[in-house]
Parts: sequence; structure tokens; C-alpha cells
Amino acid sequence: MERLQKVIAHAGIASRRKAEQLILEGKVTVNDKVVRELGVKVTGKEKIEVEGIPLQREKKVYYVLHKPRGFVSTVSDEKNRRTVLDFFKDKVSERLYPVGRLDYDTSGVLLLTNDGDFANKMMHPSGEIDKVYLARVKGIVTQESLKPLAKGIVVDGYKTKPASARLISVDKKNQSSLVQLIIHEGKYHQVKKMFDAIGFPVKKLRREQFGCIDVVGLAAGEFRPLTPHEVKTLV
Ligand code: URA
Repeated sequence: MERLQKVIAHAGIASRRKAEQLILEGKVTVNDKVVRELGVKVTGKEKIEVEGIPLQREKKVYYVLHKPRGFVSTVSDEKNRRTVLDFFKDKVSERLYPVGRLDYDTSGVLLLTNDGDFANKMMHPSGEIDKVYLARVKGIVTQESLKPLAKGIVVDGYKTKPASARLISVDKKNQSSLVQLIIHEGKYHQVKKMFDAIGFPVKKLRREQFGCIDVVGLAAGEFRPLTPHEVKTLV
């Protein structure tokens, strides 16, 4: 027996938290009866519907995409821009969603899955998963000027956790610098806000690694399944 919200999350429809919300909103039926409580357990043989749509028990899949700039990492976009899911159309039949976000103009490692539990784990800051970014920033950076990032810095009234920041190179001619930043968190525009806070706005951003996963060998727009070992290492 498993909790209803877990079964919904496993089917790839929503994260577990979102599944709980759907239940509380009365949008889930088990054998044609609306279930509104969170404690309900199911065997897996019941007829379960979410917003009137029968639950498909998909196998869990995990991919890494080399996201190019110029794509949104949401499932759909109000402005009708291209989304990262366009790369999977006609190639992967499972209903995928991105693990967290990369900005429209950010490139690099993006994980996609239909496993809500996995996605939640990856996005939780207590997971301590290293996210490695390479930022081209405006201005001449010194290792000293990066120190506030290591200590934690206030952005949007919130103090970021200590990060590792390393100056890689400076380009005096173009008055810019290349910096590697490693963080565990993943708040909205976090990297850009952290650099803004120390006076070096980001010109170009790329995620080099998500935990042990990188996009070496993948051209922009290409993806590959994660190996079972990679999935195990991440969780
Ligand atoms: N931080 C940002 O500011 N942008 C991203 O795309 C990822 C992290």
C-alpha cells in the first residue's frame, strides 16, 4: 500500500507537494470517489483519476539535456517561446518536466524526469548537491572581491549559503572576468543576483555541472539518459 500522493507523484504528473494540493482541492478520484484527505493509501489496482484523466503508471526516466540559450525551461510558455521540451518531442513518450530552472539565456546542464520525488530531492537545498556555474561578468574581478560570496550575501532579503567562488581569468580589453561559482541552492535568478550584489553583473551564464552530471560530449540541444549509477549517486 502506498500513499495516494506518492502514487500520483510517481506517475510523473506532479511533485508530491503538488499532488497533495490536487487532493486537497478535490481534483483526485479513487474508484470514482473524490478523495480530499492526505492519509489515504492505495494498492495500485484502483482506478485513479486526476482532474478527470486516468493515471498512467509510467516507468521512471531521467535525462540530461545540454540546454542552449534561447529556450525556456518551463513546460509551456505564455509568450510562446521555444521550450526545452521541444528537444524531446517525438523522441521520448514519457511526460517529462525539468528539475528546477535555467534562465532563457543560460546554457548548460539541465535534468529532466517524470519522477516527482527525484525532482523534489534534487531541488531541496538540504540535498547539498553542487551546482557548478561559469559566469562571464562585467568588470575586473579579483579573488578578494569574491569573498562576500563565500561568506553568504543578502539578496532579496535572504542570506545565501556560503558558496565557493574562484576567479578563472580576466579580459582587460573587454573589461570582463570569468568566474566559477559553486552553490547548493537554486533560488530564482540566484547566480545573477549574487553577482549583482557584489557589483559584477552577469553577461553570460552556463551551468557546467549538476552534482556529478555534466554535458561533456553533448552538443547544445542534445540529451542522453542518465545511467542507473548516476541516478543512484544523485539521490
Ligand atoms: N542562477 C541564475 O541567475 N540563472 C540561472 O539560469 C541559474 C542560476
